[in-house]
Amino acid sequence: MTEMTYDVVVVGGGPAGATAAHELARRGRSVLLLDRAWRVKPCGGAVPPQLLTDFEVPESLLVARINEARMISPKGRNVDIPVGPGFVGMVDRDVFDEWLRARAAAAGAARRTGAFIRREHDADGVARVVYTDGRSRHGAEQSVRARFIIGADGALSQVARQCIPRADEGKFVFAYHEIVESPTVDSEAFAHDRCDVYYQSPLSPDFYAWIFPHGKTTSIGTGSLQKGFSLKGSVARLREATGLDQARTIRTEGAPIPLHPLPIWDDGKEVVLAGDAAGVVAPASGEGIFYAMTGGRLAADAVEAALATRSARALASARKRFMRAHGQVFWVLDIMQRFWYTDDDRRERFVAICRDEDVQRLTFDAYMRKRLVRAKPLSHVRIFFKNLAHLTGLATT
Ligand SMILES: Cc1cc2nc3c(=O)[nH]c(=O)nc-3n(C[C@H](O)[C@H](O)[C@H](O)COP(=O)(O)OP(=O)(O)OC[C@H]3O[C@@H](n4cnc5c(N)ncnc54)[C@H](O)[C@@H]3O)c2cc1C
Repeated sequence: MTEMTYDVVVVGGGPAGATAAHELARRGRSVLLLDRAWRVKPCGGAVPPQLLTDFEVPESLLVARINEARMISPKGRNVDIPVGPGFVGMVDRDVFDEWLRARAAAAGAARRTGAFIRREHDADGVARVVYTDGRSRHGAEQSVRARFIIGADGALSQVARQCIPRADEGKFVFAYHEIVESPTVDSEAFAHDRCDVYYQSPLSPDFYAWIFPHGKTTSIGTGSLQKGFSLKGSVARLREATGLDQARTIRTEGAPIPLHPLPIWDDGKEVVLAGDAAGVVAPASGEGIFYAMTGGRLAADAVEAALATRSARALASARKRFMRAHGQVFWVLDIMQRFWYTDDDRRERFVAICRDEDVQRLTFDAYMRKRLVRAKPLSHVRIFFKNLAHLTGLATT
């Protein structure tokens, strides 16, 4: 019997991989979705409503709707920003990711549990994906033939490291959170429909700390680029300061968040990356789910084009199209993180700027619609001069 060759093997069944597998399976391509599937992805779980629309995800997967974001400055000054006519949705990743994988399977993708070990090539030049059939890298090895491979195996992607040049150049924010039972009643420090974002150096010297309610549970977390910074100590301080140290802890977990898109996403032969594996998480906010799903879709389009044209050159279109659509927003957010997150004086000014209604509208429009929205020209001028005043220290906080 001749061995089957899949059109594509998708490594990783998170939002990026499950979306890519779904997109290709529903076009009739033979797809194998390979996932290690041994733990829930550590994640704050905040998603914009645009994600529900763009990827046909039902609202029933949301465990909470957030109507307001509270930004807390180093001096403890709050700025409450209404989300506007929309909302920020909250998903629980165990349920959300499994729903996406099941949808891919319903469209025709085969699912297999296994950990990617390496790529090889058969004598006829076709790729072979070698994986262990168990949850660890040390189980018995199996393999499968693949015309194309989508590497969607997360921030520490083995596919990227083994197959894509310069994939080891990626930098990370180290993030950690504790899932606790949500308080039954709202208080000054906690509300079921509000996300709290702390810009205070004891909680994070270069990123932010958060409290994200998920209905019955709440994610309390922080991130930092500094390896020596105690993320656990920070979350303990935040829980104590907000009274959430009294809440029952359900789970504690951490994971790296990539800082920048990798310079190359494909090997020009048969591999293309998507999601965290490609380094696509928005700087400053750490938002990655929407971008992972977008990357998964673009990787699927690229593989579809490569299959149709029998040319691997099409694989490069995934990065080109992603950067064309989102590069500008990433660039602005990167500058924002580099400048405003560096010390408490600047954070104080940053939170003060966010009191401006035009800044709030611009920020939320960008988050909700995933593009820089053309605001009234006068608003831009006002925001520009306000920024300038804060940057030069002319404005008081
Ligand atoms: C603490 C924390 C909080 C966050 N909060 C938010 C938030 O609130 N909102 C937001 O939008 N983003 C958030 N992010 C970022 C977001 O979680 C990621 O950007 C997103 O999960 C990326 O999706 P992905 O599919 O690319 O990768 P992942 O979700 O990491 O999925 C990778 C998949 O690959 C599988 N895998 C890994 N290695 C192998 C292997 N060798 N073989 C087979 N399978 C493998 C894993 O099992 C997993 O299923 C947060 C991240 C962290 C760490």
